[in-house]
Amino acid sequence: MNDCHEAQRELRAALLDGRQAAAGTIGHLASCLACQDYRHGLDALHNLAATEPLLTSEVRRRTLARITEHLARRRGAGVAIAVPLAAFSVTLSLLLPLWLLFHTLHPAVGSRLLAAAGAAALIGLAGLASGVWWLLETRSNEDAATASWR
Ligand SMILES: [Zn+2]
Repeated sequence: MNDCHEAQRELRAALLDGRQAAAGTIGHLASCLACQDYRHGLDALHNLAATEPLLTSEVRRRTLARITEHLARRRGAGVAIAVPLAAFSVTLSLLLPLWLLFHTLHPAVGSRLLAAAGAAALIGLAGLASGVWWLLETRSNEDAATASWR
């Protein structure tokens, strides 16, 4: 086994162990260009492996912060559209029956005031009826749920 083979084996072992190469190997390096090249190659490889990973904790933190910010903005935009849309829908679902009832009642009663009051009263009664129905339905569902536990 020649000196170069031994020196290069010692260089690899020293690098892996994280220690200085043996004094004999350092002496060999001073006079051997081939082993000096080998050591430069090993050092370059070691430095390449020791560089920071692409996704550092700082990049990760900033990326997650941006994603969270983006999602929060999107959620905000959803609410900004949903609220006026819901208000418009409720308004339409109240006004349309009111308008239809008013124009149905007006020719029959002759008075605009009576027709408007009648339409409003009928819409109110329909709202009350659906509220009572919802209440009864909810209660019967709760009863069924608690009955299944017994
Ligand atoms: Zn050598």
